[in-house]
Amino acid sequence: MTFLSENEKKYKEAVPYLLSWYDFNARILPWRQEPSPYFVWVSEIMLQQTRVEAVRGYFDRFLRELPDIQALAEVSEERLLKLWEGLGYYNRVRNMQRAAQLVCEQYGGQLPREVDLLRALPGIGDYTAGAIASIAYGVPEPAVDGNVLRVMSRLTGSRENVAEAGVKAKMIRELRAVMPKDRPGEFNQAIMDIGATICIPNGAPHCEQCPVQHLCRAFAEGCTDEIPVKPQKKQRRLVERIVLVIECHGSYLLHKRANKGLLAGLWEFPGVDVDAVEDDGKANALLAQLLGEDVACPESPDAVWTGKHIFSHVEWNMTARVYHLRGERPAAAKDCVWATVEELLERYSLPGAFSEFRRRILAEDKTTD
Ligand code: SF4
Repeated sequence: MTFLSENEKKYKEAVPYLLSWYDFNARILPWRQEPSPYFVWVSEIMLQQTRVEAVRGYFDRFLRELPDIQALAEVSEERLLKLWEGLGYYNRVRNMQRAAQLVCEQYGGQLPREVDLLRALPGIGDYTAGAIASIAYGVPEPAVDGNVLRVMSRLTGSRENVAEAGVKAKMIRELRAVMPKDRPGEFNQAIMDIGATICIPNGAPHCEQCPVQHLCRAFAEGCTDEIPVKPQKKQRRLVERIVLVIECHGSYLLHKRANKGLLAGLWEFPGVDVDAVEDDGKANALLAQLLGEDVACPESPDAVWTGKHIFSHVEWNMTARVYHLRGERPAAAKDCVWATVEELLERYSLPGAFSEFRRRILAEDKTTD
């Protein structure tokens, strides 16, 4: 007879209620209709950064153009980043491509079903490996993310810090011990769905709709707002940034960022961090460098736009100085290109930080049609 810990007993008791609930309440999602390993993989990576409702559109667009692992392995990086535009965390899709290339080389284009082999691929951690193995291959492996940590911590009344790797590893071990062997994918997805729709992260959970309310310790003790226990968030660093939106004969100057650091290797409107927005020195020096010796720098911008973007650790407070150049177009400076409005839309992937500026360019372009 297998000895179960208190947590494992609680999880085991919850299994039939979770599965029955899932039978009638599972969310209808495009990747669930045909849960191939590739579809599950793409959806889970996208869901790590965006809400389900937003992911649907990205998922369809991505799969239309890259319907299988081979297509993902072979697509150009520029096109790949364009398809990922708006989702952020571009290293995730770069890792997906590296993983796809390895899968083509080593596994004939099929993702392996073994959790250890999945985990050895770039960008695939415990959660994604568990999701692919359980949902696509029926392997009894948990998929523990923030949603699952929250639901299960509340269920057991655990006050352990869910940000600690050891706490997560323990939950994975405990859930593995009680996974229903016949329906592991549905079990994982039931907890994911409850975490997304009932036992929600922000605001009070909808315990009155919860299929495991009668088992839940946090509910019984009236402490759902205290669990899960998380560390204090670090304050984000505030950065003032001057961005140069330079237009000449209908094209805009874009700069490719360095291959390391924030927004590595992505296109941007050129810019510079400053101590204060009135601080013209650095911005003017950048403008002069971009325009080269043969073009006189405009004395002042034609317009000034503002924007803000929040990354996980940094917040950009942006002031865009907009210049419309007349005369001959200067050659594109190092690591820069001139992009037409159409190319801004169809070709070059601009991170979300610059979406607002691009939107204004498109709006202006329409008014000049
Ligand atoms: Fe979450 Fe409430 Fe359900 Fe407990 S009863 S798992 S707190 S929704």
